[in-house]
Amino acid sequence: MRPQAFLSRRVVTPRGIEAAAVLFQDGRILDVVPQDQLPAETSVTDFGGTAILPGLVDSHIHINEPGRTEWEGFRTATRAAAAGGYTLLVDMPLNCLPPTTTVAALEAKRKAASGQCRVDWMAWGGVVSNNQEHIEGLAAAGVPGFKCFLIHPGIDGFTMVTERELRAALPHVARTGLPLLVHAELPGPVDEATRQLAEADWSKYATYLQSRPDEAELSAIRLMISLCREYHFRLHIVHLATSQALDMLRAAKAEGLPVSVETCPHYLRFSSDKIPDGQTLFKCAPPIRSRENREKLWQGLREGIIDLVATDHSPCPPEMKRLGERNFRTAWGGISSLSLALPAMWTEAEGRGFTLADIARWLAEGPARLAGCESRKGRIAKDLDADFVVFEPEAEFIATEDRLSYRHRVSPYLGERLRGVIKATYLRGNCVFADGEYPGEPGGRELRR
Ligand SMILES: [Zn+2]
Repeated sequence: MRPQAFLSRRVVTPRGIEAAAVLFQDGRILDVVPQDQLPAETSVTDFGGTAILPGLVDSHIHINEPGRTEWEGFRTATRAAAAGGYTLLVDMPLNCLPPTTTVAALEAKRKAASGQCRVDWMAWGGVVSNNQEHIEGLAAAGVPGFKCFLIHPGIDGFTMVTERELRAALPHVARTGLPLLVHAELPGPVDEATRQLAEADWSKYATYLQSRPDEAELSAIRLMISLCREYHFRLHIVHLATSQALDMLRAAKAEGLPVSVETCPHYLRFSSDKIPDGQTLFKCAPPIRSRENREKLWQGLREGIIDLVATDHSPCPPEMKRLGERNFRTAWGGISSLSLALPAMWTEAEGRGFTLADIARWLAEGPARLAGCESRKGRIAKDLDADFVVFEPEAEFIATEDRLSYRHRVSPYLGERLRGVIKATYLRGNCVFADGEYPGEPGGRELRR
């Protein structure tokens, strides 16, 4: 194939936002050059003022296949990813059956994914109470890192780890050199708060919020930082919800510890004062906290204490959200947002003075680096995959069900006015989404470390 080029007055590269031509061939970016330096035989598409961002990377998603394909699945998740501007998903090791805690389970996942994916994918391995001897095998089999829970994950089959079990696992994790992603809440403060709320009204969001106090996150992060210092492994805090941890995380980074931090679009868009009682679509753990807390999370992003933003897209069959019962105690905790994360983030970021270059850093480069694939994904730069999002930053829309391309079209974002429309998504130079359609056959591949 002869080389192709995409022209735009707003190409988002690690240098910033520039008028340029992105030259690519055979799925790889050859160069980013001024328009007048294109080779003569290039086939050119001019996007004018529409922005071109790197394909986004979601380092935190629950695809739930094999085993709970009725919750999501590779076919529907990767379709929604393409519609949302994502070209790589890194799947969490739980909610699928078997959970990805052994090489055999990883192989079962590979089989399940085969031929179904519209974008690329990877799989995190799990660290659970009793799989220490599988950790290094999973690394050798190609996982980019590991995930563990310090509290019951809301579903049986993927066990939480105690400090003692962590200490058994951490030497193995450290030897792999791969990051350990931690759901950082300790059960003590949650159990204690929940006990005091036995008679409370669980249709109220305030009750749920009180049941997951900041201290649960703070004590977990404190523990993990001290273990990081002791065992010298790469620590990644997933979905940080409390801004009270930012000082501790800033200090850990200043000390030189290998710590990275993520938060999610829902913590940056919503706040507890605006969540209607009974509206369990907003339930996730840790919970969405106050408006003041939200503004401090934005400050954490501004300062670089928070490195990246991942969706934690965690769907379930709608009946598990128990919308009829309006019960925050029994409803599934998880927010579905995959197709809307980019416009949701852009809507909030632009109003606070951030640019598309910040968006690309948080939603593409940062997650690619966490998953160890920064030499292939996450930036518009020479030699990387020709993965692009064509994005109209000024267009607005109301989030409706037809914009959600995943399996169960529920989301707390429905009805929200959002800014920024994804016009098209390209995976290794091939269009995988354009104007509501998914051209071509599924061409997504697994990336291995
Ligand atoms: Zn999650």
